[in-house]
Amino acid sequence: MEDVAPAIEVRDLFKRFGPLEVLKGVSMTANKGDVIAIIGGSGSGKSTFLRCINMLELPSAGSVTIHGEAIALKDDRHHGLRPADRKQIERIRSQLAMVFQSFNLWQHMTVLQNVIEVPVHVLGMKRDEAVEIAETLLRRVGLHEKQDVYPAFLSGGQQQRAAIARALAVQPLALLFDEPTSALDPELVGEVLSVIGDLAKENRTMVLVTHEMKFARDVASHVIFLHNGIIEEQGPPDQVFGDPKSERLKQFISSVH
Ligand code: ADP
Ligand code: MG
Repeated sequence: MEDVAPAIEVRDLFKRFGPLEVLKGVSMTANKGDVIAIIGGSGSGKSTFLRCINMLELPSAGSVTIHGEAIALKDDRHHGLRPADRKQIERIRSQLAMVFQSFNLWQHMTVLQNVIEVPVHVLGMKRDEAVEIAETLLRRVGLHEKQDVYPAFLSGGQQQRAAIARALAVQPLALLFDEPTSALDPELVGEVLSVIGDLAKENRTMVLVTHEMKFARDVASHVIFLHNGIIEEQGPPDQVFGDPKSERLKQFISSVH
């Protein structure tokens, strides 16, 4: 069971914010090593979908199963979360590392402190061990010389690479990226995409919301086009980008090129 269960399985996910229905029955399976790219216009529900996967938002209906563990939580404002549910959410979050558009590094901590914070204080890893892992990760993302620097002194590209090292430090089951390059100056996009591209080659499971269509075509194993909270079209990248079927997808692709 452990090994055959998909890393992430989402079935018929709905999400409402009051009267606004943002997700209207979205399903996705990410097996180990899959790189799923999610594309779609602004407001189509991409961020909400990612946030429901790691329970930053609770779904209104549908199911999210992480490595065989079903998360039965629903968005129910009349009942607070039970302690057991909270524990489950914490556990799931520690397995699904998220990288945001806006880096979200802790500004009062150095790069190294950012990377070891969760391993040491949440996962209970010994500090020495966490530092050793962090140094290896920072070398991998090309930041070993910056480990004692505070985020404010880094470029956007460096901050995002530090955020990726921090995400990797929890040894996540899957990585979730929400437009990781869209807040960057154009000349800094390449260095971050190159780090993400290397991760994709390592058989890591990733769900990547991106506007970088060429990159998505290169690294994704599967592409999902979201429109108005539903999957309008999906398939292998060459099919989705090279032979789109729906008019909306055709329009979207021509609008972003
Ligand atoms: P995308 O990432 O594709 O641009 P989002 O998932 O951020 O889209 O948003 C989809 C829709 O949901 C938008 O109309 C947005 O305003 C709305 N929305 C997102 N989060 C909230 C929230 N917490 N409360 C109310 N509406 C929200
Ligand atoms: Mg978004």
